[in-house]
Amino acid sequence: MNLANVGGQPAVVIGDTTHLLNGLTGGQPVIDLITGWPTVPRLLADAPTRPTAELDFGPPIPRPGKIIGAPVNYLDHQREMNVEHTIAGLGFFMKSPTSIVGADGTVTLPFPDRRTDQEAELGVVIGRRARHVVRDAALDHVFGYTCLVDVTVRGPEERSTRKSFEGFTPIGPWIVPLDRIPDPNRLRIQGRVNGQTRQDASTSQMVYGVPELVEFISSVVTLEPGDIIATGTPSGVGPIEPGDVIEVEIEHVGTLRVPVRRGEVEPHPLWLTRATEAP
Ligand code: MN
Repeated sequence: MNLANVGGQPAVVIGDTTHLLNGLTGGQPVIDLITGWPTVPRLLADAPTRPTAELDFGPPIPRPGKIIGAPVNYLDHQREMNVEHTIAGLGFFMKSPTSIVGADGTVTLPFPDRRTDQEAELGVVIGRRARHVVRDAALDHVFGYTCLVDVTVRGPEERSTRKSFEGFTPIGPWIVPLDRIPDPNRLRIQGRVNGQTRQDASTSQMVYGVPELVEFISSVVTLEPGDIIATGTPSGVGPIEPGDVIEVEIEHVGTLRVPVRRGEVEPHPLWLTRATEAP
């Protein structure tokens, strides 16, 4: 029973069948169903259904309060980027909530001449307010998991700048609630571009797992329902080009597929037209 967004309205995906809650939830945004999740099953009997395969899914959280990213959180990616520090030393970063798109969205590349990469990541969706939460209690504050692409322009600018363009955080196609995934630190995660595998790893290779990330992040900011954590990417990041299709597949979660196109707006002159490759 997964939470989704169809046409801006909440929906529940159960395998091949999707229940459209449109009209049964008083026009609540999808995010409200996170806190009301225990009451959702009794809505299903009255909900119209559609075959899941026929639907275009929007972002399951269209406008999270925060998107927080874990930099350099897989050791093989640390080696690939040749950087010294992980979260210990770098801290976390934030992406703009307006960078979110869903499975029905598009990644728009702002620059033809700046390397822009796919980063396949496990997305964590917060379900309960979390402040100074210790790792043993951290999963009590998680609603569930989604596939996420942390699209990134390489170069020397701050991460929050390079990762915040419109469309730079595809999520979806739905959120799988926590109780379906007992151990988020043991999931196969794959990143493909045009069907070719670039990333194939296990979340067990994360430097800091989901409980540790929630503990650390909530020592600084208050996490709230609908906030999203991008938990970091394994090795195999690489340039994406207009016309490409990015896929993230995560065991027990699903497959998110988004196309890439070229932007139509000239980059602001403060952007370096070319930059040396850097994290
Ligand atoms: Mn990332």
